[in-house]
Amino acid sequence: MSRIQLLSPRLANQIAAGEVVERPASVVKELLENALDAGSQRLELDVEQGGIKLIRIRDDGDGIEKEDLPLALSRHATSKIYELEDLESVVSLGFRGEALASISSVSRLTLTSRRVGSEHAWQVQTEGRDMEAQLSPAAHPQGSTVEVRDLFFNTPARRKFLKTENTEFKHLEEIVKRLALSRFDVAFQLKHNGRVIHQLKPATQQAEQERRVASVCGPAFIEQSLRVDVHAEASGLSLKGWIGLPTFSRSQADLQYFFVNGRMIRDKVVTHAVRQAYADVLFHGRHPAYVLYLDLDPALVDVNVHPTKHEVRFRESRLVHDFIYRSIHRVIGEVRPEANSVPAL
Ligand code: ADP
Ligand code: MG
Repeated sequence: MSRIQLLSPRLANQIAAGEVVERPASVVKELLENALDAGSQRLELDVEQGGIKLIRIRDDGDGIEKEDLPLALSRHATSKIYELEDLESVVSLGFRGEALASISSVSRLTLTSRRVGSEHAWQVQTEGRDMEAQLSPAAHPQGSTVEVRDLFFNTPARRKFLKTENTEFKHLEEIVKRLALSRFDVAFQLKHNGRVIHQLKPATQQAEQERRVASVCGPAFIEQSLRVDVHAEASGLSLKGWIGLPTFSRSQADLQYFFVNGRMIRDKVVTHAVRQAYADVLFHGRHPAYVLYLDLDPALVDVNVHPTKHEVRFRESRLVHDFIYRSIHRVIGEVRPEANSVPAL
């Protein structure tokens, strides 16, 4: 008998889930990104027990066709890219076609959806079983609801690594904050154990956006911040957002949001550039606070570096670094003229 066997789809998905689904926060990230990719304008999150017991996300996006529902839950099935070249210019948040398959292999997942223009809604359920998704008719307005119950109920080893409800909720809330900062045009509501924690209306005007930043990052940040709005004609790079005054420095790097083409990332090049711009105005061991948006040609940045897409690779990292450094340095210099004496790169 052959000793080499194909993994069952469920086991393959559970192994893949190890990469993408670490805790309730990772589920929320994937589900919210899907909802945003579907063009939603209003997102409602209901979470129980830090997301361990329940995560329910309801959106008003395009919805999923009845025929596509079982596919949405299978691995490597996506509507977002069709060929390798599409990766070069991917603008959607998802594209690996793995999230729903992974999540459904380690939880009790129900997906209910009604496609635009469709008369009925349909529902699929899986319970960590092989992907024999059962379709049934359901009542739902246009859009989708994904319900994830009992995360890791069938993978006790993973479940053991979960922290307290409170800690898990903090991680999950952080994901919601990041996405709320990345999409001012979308309304967000987050409830935990029935209590409304965040209620964010769509924000188009600058004043409304600042109100959202204040409610996500705290009013002190926006009161003590400087506005950044720089565009470089030649390279097409643009940097917008808010940076904390040097006097609003933090003991931890806990208020640092950086978005590249709308996607929140952590990147050494970026962190270094910002640090350097603040070098002469911050005390040793203090950290700057910022909410910044870098936009550039998608072809100049590779987002397919890691499954969670937290990292990017800039094609011209020196150019990006210097642009960020100079933009921030100049804004700080405008309130602190003496900072201008720092030699430019
Ligand atoms: P990916 O986002 O990488 O394509 P997912 O497993 O997260 O992979 O989702 C699979 C597919 O299911 C998506 O490509 C999309 O077509 C569909 N989908 C998932 N969630 C939603 C949603 N909230 N609204 C509409 N379509 C969705
Ligand atoms: Mg996705």
